[in-house]
Amino acid sequence: MDFETDFLIIGSGIAGLSLGLKLAEIGRVTVITKKSEADTATNLAQGGIACALGEDDDPNLHEFDTLKAGDGLCHEDIVRQIVRQAPDRIRELKKWGVNFTRDPSNPERLDLGQEGGHSRRRIVHVEDFTGRAIQKALMARAAGKKNIEVLEDYIAVDLLTECKIGYDNDATERQKHSNGPKSVERCLGAYVLEVATGTVHTFLSHVTVLATGGAGKVYLYTSNPDVATGDGIAIAYRAGARIANPEFVQFHPTCLYHPRAKNFLISEALRGEGAILLDPNGEPFMKRYDPERKDLAGRDIVARAIDMELKKSGKECVYLDISHRSPEFVKERFPNIYDVCLSLGIDITKEPIPVVPAAHYMCGGIVTDANGQSDLKGLFAIGETACTGLHGANRLASNSLLEGLVMAHQAYLFIKENLSNFTQKPAHAIPAWDTGGAVDMDEAVLISHNWDVIRRLMWNYVGIVRSTKRLGLARLRMAPILSEINQHYWDYILTRDFIELRNLAQVAELIILAAYRRKESRGGHFTIDFPEKDDWNWRRDTILKRSNNGG
Ligand SMILES: Cc1cc2nc3c(=O)[nH]c(=O)nc-3n(C[C@H](O)[C@H](O)[C@H](O)COP(=O)(O)OP(=O)(O)OC[C@H]3O[C@@H](n4cnc5c(N)ncnc54)[C@H](O)[C@@H]3O)c2cc1C
Repeated sequence: MDFETDFLIIGSGIAGLSLGLKLAEIGRVTVITKKSEADTATNLAQGGIACALGEDDDPNLHEFDTLKAGDGLCHEDIVRQIVRQAPDRIRELKKWGVNFTRDPSNPERLDLGQEGGHSRRRIVHVEDFTGRAIQKALMARAAGKKNIEVLEDYIAVDLLTECKIGYDNDATERQKHSNGPKSVERCLGAYVLEVATGTVHTFLSHVTVLATGGAGKVYLYTSNPDVATGDGIAIAYRAGARIANPEFVQFHPTCLYHPRAKNFLISEALRGEGAILLDPNGEPFMKRYDPERKDLAGRDIVARAIDMELKKSGKECVYLDISHRSPEFVKERFPNIYDVCLSLGIDITKEPIPVVPAAHYMCGGIVTDANGQSDLKGLFAIGETACTGLHGANRLASNSLLEGLVMAHQAYLFIKENLSNFTQKPAHAIPAWDTGGAVDMDEAVLISHNWDVIRRLMWNYVGIVRSTKRLGLARLRMAPILSEINQHYWDYILTRDFIELRNLAQVAELIILAAYRRKESRGGHFTIDFPEKDDWNWRRDTILKRSNNGG
């Protein structure tokens, strides 16, 4: 069946839903999401949203801290645009029903948390489950709008694109597509798999928005939810859009280390409130890595320090201790972390928390302008899947929810203003998806094996500390995996697991290529062969486009 809508939004996190709510004022919105609506990274966010609201604060300081974290690669105009809009977007979220925690000493004001890399207290939050509160409010509001339809368990496969030579990604022309798009001009929607029936539908739309989140699942250890397989980046890349800076993967220093805990993050806000990292002997160690900021050093520095400590000691984890703060404070400020840890037998008011670093945030992504437009007319990318230039080589904590909100707003203003530019009918009829001679994949191990191999390879060879040798080996090892997956794409009927594997492999390859090309250490990318910053690389983004991925 064909679907037609004005605005197709792929992803139901903060970026997708907040844009959907606005676009519903000017047309019909279809949000597709590959699992349930709340299966998002947004739902897991704990710390909050950075916003310069304090009396001692100023957007210039927020801008300065963001640029410092970005280590020379931020685009200053974008940083300015995003940090300056923060108060308006927070006001909007309040209007939409998000009840931010208030300052206990002055309930007129919002409570402002402290996080690493921020020179002021500026994290607006809902206790320690900010993302859950936002996700809930956005979903409730979307449910009340008749112009928004949310389709769960629908996964985007690829974009429908119009080229000078015709459509390039219909099934019968898959070969052409896999050889690279020819002068792709415009995005017309997407092919989407309905998971329940196994049918691939054609979704036609004036505007298509990739709001597909991050790619943490590329790594063995990650704080990200299962949906974070980098689909948007892989889909946009296959359609010919530019991808920038995928080598800058941010590793969060402190994920809970426990056999029964899956991807549970111990928020940076704990260190903001005085928690101290201890080695397995109970000794604080951050003073050896950043004597000035110690435990409040940036994420990359803390993650590398922990990686170093683990390699030195041969132990499985280090510890984060907040037991010197009063139990009342800890329980009130971090109720979610307290409850989850207690359920696993760890009382954080009395004992240190075992932690390890894990892949957390993709700083690079689909290249967009200040309005979220990608290289393809009619295709926008917002949220974690995009690379706007805000984060540069490393993201400042709590800037990503903010980016999702601001870029959704910018995209809305731009689309509204230029709507007539996006409404031309396609020049030709869109061919339906054709499965060709594909058959059901009866051996799930073909997926699970490669899934495992890729994630382990990325963790060991393309992780927190990299080397040219390991990156070269990773490239070699990925090549046969990619060609095997490509073969499966022709041979087997699509499933959600296979689509995710295909995208995960594509994004892994992009990260490896970009990391290999960057002959310096900067922000989230550290290589032992080039441990210093290369000043000739100042402001140079790594750009990958389908036709130039060779080297
Ligand atoms: C544990 C954790 C804590 C965090 N804490 C903070 C914090 O305190 N502050 C902060 O600023 N940031 C934080 N972050 C980062 C932040 O949460 C994310 O960057 C942000 O929520 C991303 O929002 P998004 O809308 O871009 O994507 P997401 O919220 O991840 O939503 C992506 C959506 O796209 C869907 N999707 C993906 N691929 C497809 C496809 N092919 N077809 C259909 N649907 C698809 C997914 O199912 C999902 O619905 C945290 C992240 C994690 C994991």
